[in-house]
This record gives sequence, structure tokens and C-alpha cells, in this order.
Amino acid sequence: MAIKIPLLDLKKQISPIRSEFDAAIKRVIDNGNFILGKEVQDFENEVTTYCNVKYAIGVSNGTDAIKLALAALDIKQGDGVICPTFTYFATAGAIADIGAIPVFADIDPLTYNISAAKIGEAIKQKRIILRLLGRSGVIKAIVPVHLYGQCADMDNILQVAKKYKLKVVEDAAQSFGAEYKGKKAGTIGDCGTVSFYPGKNLGAFGDAGMILTNNKAAADKINILRNQGNKDKYYHSVLGYNNRMDTIQAVVLNIKLKYLDSWNKKRQENAEYFNQQLKCLEIKTPFVSAYTTHIYHQYVLRLNSSSAKLIEHLRNKGIDSRVYYPLPLHLQECFKYLGYKKGDFPESEKAAQQTLAIPVYPDLTRKELDYIIASIKEFLK
Ligand SMILES: *Cc1c(COP(=O)(O)O)cnc(C)c1O
Repeated sequence: MAIKIPLLDLKKQISPIRSEFDAAIKRVIDNGNFILGKEVQDFENEVTTYCNVKYAIGVSNGTDAIKLALAALDIKQGDGVICPTFTYFATAGAIADIGAIPVFADIDPLTYNISAAKIGEAIKQKRIILRLLGRSGVIKAIVPVHLYGQCADMDNILQVAKKYKLKVVEDAAQSFGAEYKGKKAGTIGDCGTVSFYPGKNLGAFGDAGMILTNNKAAADKINILRNQGNKDKYYHSVLGYNNRMDTIQAVVLNIKLKYLDSWNKKRQENAEYFNQQLKCLEIKTPFVSAYTTHIYHQYVLRLNSSSAKLIEHLRNKGIDSRVYYPLPLHLQECFKYLGYKKGDFPESEKAAQQTLAIPVYPDLTRKELDYIIASIKEFLK
């Protein structure tokens, strides 16, 4: 029988604990409180303990979480917000959605995350662009992304932020549970944002997200903004959004949270096995910085040339692999108005060519891991 290994198999994760979900969802249906119920608060409380953070606010998804965090920190129409160009679209999409201007930065080629140096370059480059355009364009915030499951170099990023008086919103969508020097991803900047999209390491049964912060004023604002600007029902002090979390998602996430660390540990073991078995070949295994743990939302390999042929080879073997992400954001059609061009961020453009993510999810068997390794070795021979 032909082997099929997808990038992620959620059925395998859910089936051993299926009865827990069935019972919890039944309770929500019986209670009939489907939005922002007590269960959402329970989940928020569990997360504040898990992340050792003062406030955790459940919202509709990870994109809205970024939008709300920026809005709560007073980022407004026309403000510049720095983010990496090599990330999922939503990072910059959320910035643009509140009327702010995405200011792209290149990545460190080892970690695929932005660094203080790349942020400094982006600030200088943007100043030149804006001067040429005859605009002032003040930069107000940085959104570093903890890509693939490891944290960006936060101490140095916070230092640049301090120097230029910038707010910091960590996009921890791919790194919920990872630690930077003992602190949970998303609890280091002014705010951190999380996505519980089903494919994330902690995934809901639909869309959901969260904002983490130790800043009471920001938390209060987000609480109001997520629910139509409601402070008291039907009295709207500010213009808010419909960005509430569903009760069903909260109960699902609360069950899964108990397993998250063990699932992440399995991902780390799988990654470690790949690292050992793929050593000494013409392929680079992921680099992990000393200051962070890596929870391998993606296990990303790198070649010296295009990864397209290896992806094709693996597909023929029944193994899914993919480039996250094939077109850096500064080259996306929807951001044409920002005036970037090919060659502006060479490290990101190169990473988009040379990398590929292979399956690393917790439920992979040793046999499947060996098959993936053998298939890669066969290609490299
Ligand atoms: C998934 C993701 C998001 C968006 O999350 P949604 O819940 O899908 O809105 C934002 N940033 C990054 C880096 C992501 O991977």
C-alpha cells in the first residue's frame, strides 16, 4: 500500500481524547451560552497561569489579536509598524487593516526571525523612502514574529524599541508554549498575540486567538474593543469590533492545553531524531538560538539551492512538504503601494527559495520518521 504522510494529521491527535471533547461540547450546548461564557474566562485563567502573565484575553483569531493589541497600544492610521517580510500574511495584514503602514524588515538567515540589526536597517531604509515621497511617517511599533516555534532575540529587539520609543507586539502565533530565557513567548513585549487556528500547536475546532499582556491599561482596552466597544451593554465608549471568542473553542482549548507540553515534547524528539539522521548531508537542519526553546510548529530544512525538486521528490513518495512562505510580503501584490521591490530583502527572498517544512507532528511513528529520512537521503544521493 502506498504510504501517505501529511504535514499534519489532526485526527490522530483528537481520537485518543475524543470523549473529553464530546462531553465538554455537550455541556456548552446544554448551557446554551455560546459566546464569551464562563468557560472563556476559565480558559483565560488557565493561560495566565500557564504563561505566568497577568492578563490573557480570548478573541476571535490570531489576526484580530494583532489588530486589537496594536489598537490598544494607540497605534493609529498612518503610523509605521515594523514587521518581518518573511512571515505569514496576517502579521502585516493586521497592521494594514487598522490603517497603519507595514514597514518590512529582513530576517536573520539562521533563525528566520527579525533581529535588532535588521530592524535598525529597516528604520533607516524607510526613512529614506518616506523622505523621497515627501512624507514624515513616524514609526510607532515593532511586531517581531516567533517563526516556526522559536523566539526572536527579544532583549536586543526591546533595546532597539527603547531607543526609538517603539511599542512591541510579539506575534507568538506559531510559538505558544515556547520560552525565551525562561519566559513564555508572548509575555515579553508590551503585548503578545496567539493564534489557535486548528493547525497551530494548540489548535481550536475553528478560529480562535488570544492576547497576552502584563499591562492593565492595554488589557482593559482590549476587553472593551473585542466586544463592540461595550463597557456596559449597549453603551459604546469607543468604536470596537466583533472579536469575541466562542465558548466551544474555549472548552476545546482548555482540554488541549493539558496536553500541549507533552505534544511539544514529542515534536522536539522528532526534530532531534531528524537532526541526528540528516547530519553531514547537503542539507541544513534548524538552528536553535541558545536564548530560546523551539517547539517546532514547523521543522524547516534548508538546501544550498532551490527546494522545489526535493518537495516534488517527497510528493512522489507520498510525503507532504511545503515552503512557509514562498513569496515574502514585500513582494505581494496587495502591498505594491508600499513601493518595495525585488532585492530589497535578500535573506528573506533566499529563504523563500531554499527552505522546506517536513512533517514533524507529535503522532508520527518511528517508521514514518525513518521513511521521511530515507526519502530525503535518496534525493540527496
Ligand atoms: C497563524 C498566524 C497568524 C494568524 O492567525 P489566525 O488565527 O489564522 O488569524 C498570524 N501570524 C502568524 C505568524 C501565524 O502563523
